[in-house]
Amino acid sequence: MVDFQAILNRIYQDAKAVKDKGVVASYIPELAHVDPEAFGMHLRTSEGEKYGVGDFDKLFSIQSISKVFALSKAMALIGDAIWKRVDVEPSGNPYNFLALLEIENSIPRNPFINSGAIVIADILLSNLKNPKADFLSYVRELAGDSSINYNEEVAYSEKNTGFKNYASANLLKSFNNLENPVDAVLDFYFHQCAIEMSCSQLSKAFYLFANKGSCMQQKQHISNQQVKRINALMLTCGFYDEAGEFAFEVGLPGKSGVGGGIAALLPDQFVISVWSPGLNKKGNSKLGVHALEQFTTKAKLSIF
Ligand code: GLN
Repeated sequence: MVDFQAILNRIYQDAKAVKDKGVVASYIPELAHVDPEAFGMHLRTSEGEKYGVGDFDKLFSIQSISKVFALSKAMALIGDAIWKRVDVEPSGNPYNFLALLEIENSIPRNPFINSGAIVIADILLSNLKNPKADFLSYVRELAGDSSINYNEEVAYSEKNTGFKNYASANLLKSFNNLENPVDAVLDFYFHQCAIEMSCSQLSKAFYLFANKGSCMQQKQHISNQQVKRINALMLTCGFYDEAGEFAFEVGLPGKSGVGGGIAALLPDQFVISVWSPGLNKKGNSKLGVHALEQFTTKAKLSIF
């Protein structure tokens, strides 16, 4: 029997001792002011055992981790029609890369780069009655926690600095790959990125991706086949141009965000979430990736 708590404790001690913790995202003040020393990690097994270390109950901006919730909701709503508008290939490029949109006629490479996530946001806007309220309810339901919320200041700052996201949305619109007005789609997208959660809340909310589409409340949100596809996309595209490296080092499907969070999972076994705000050059949590590599190596548990 693996002693998960001992492994997390060890990783935490090692992480605290690291001098170069990466660079905290600075494009908006709300992220720039986060303590670079913060570190939390939380593991939840499919049987419901919980293990945590450090700041695992502290809220942070989930940013691009929200793209997994958005994709799963869109798949539940319109199924395979999504794939006419977004592809499923890794991009090998940064999350905000635009050039491929021109070349590939505005079918974004995958739902986890920003252009793809903006198309998914458009789908949610068209198919939810009260998009922002309904999406928040969905995330709250997955986590079984009604305290989860948008950080309106973060959403506002994202809007004021999101020039590349505007460029991307305008390109998509020019290719008829957005049904709704650019401003409305981006307002939704900036809000989904501005959700705040803790590692322990993420471990609960990701439960359905490790448990065949059924959330902790035993409600079936998506099919087993859809979960297979979402996990495949996380493995191949969840870390942008570092997806290969993450699979190589960690060996789990997962998703990162520029807030420094990562949620990853082993199907039928566990969800593991980590938060360390300093980022590496690819925009993924520097210590977060390292901590997960240590975890799968020490616990001898990965999809490989
Ligand atoms: N809000 C960020 C953006 O759209 C999210 C990017 C990320 O977390 N990788 O640029």
